[in-house]
Amino acid sequence: MSQDSQKLFAQFPKLFDLQGQNPVSAYGIEIFETSKGWTNLVFELCGELQEYVNLSGCRQVKILTLKSKFASLRCYLGNFPSEVGYAGDIQNIINKYVELSFKTCESCGTSDPKAKVTQNKTNWILTLCESCRKPSKT
Ligand SMILES: [Zn+2]
Repeated sequence: MSQDSQKLFAQFPKLFDLQGQNPVSAYGIEIFETSKGWTNLVFELCGELQEYVNLSGCRQVKILTLKSKFASLRCYLGNFPSEVGYAGDIQNIINKYVELSFKTCESCGTSDPKAKVTQNKTNWILTLCESCRKPSKT
């Protein structure tokens, strides 16, 4: 399991506490393997979700998966609230980070407009800045 996964589980135990039933807590967070540049986004997303639960009285949501799909950050939750108000707020938090992920390089983490972060149209779609997208010199 990666150090970032261990750090995330230690920092947000309630989000990942599934009594051993969650493969994420056993194997780590996939996003840290595939999209190192989104590490800060993941920590901020988890922080915002947990803070919302703490302050709102919403039931404790659980994170099942964090991964990169079609060039954006995906977060799948368990124990999702059934109340429309809570559900909408939680969805808005997640959507905010999906939007941010489209502008943040998966490799180096830059979101500087000058770095020209874009998505490719073919193959495995990645969100990368101009300099990370250049083929490596070998
Ligand atoms: Zn980059």
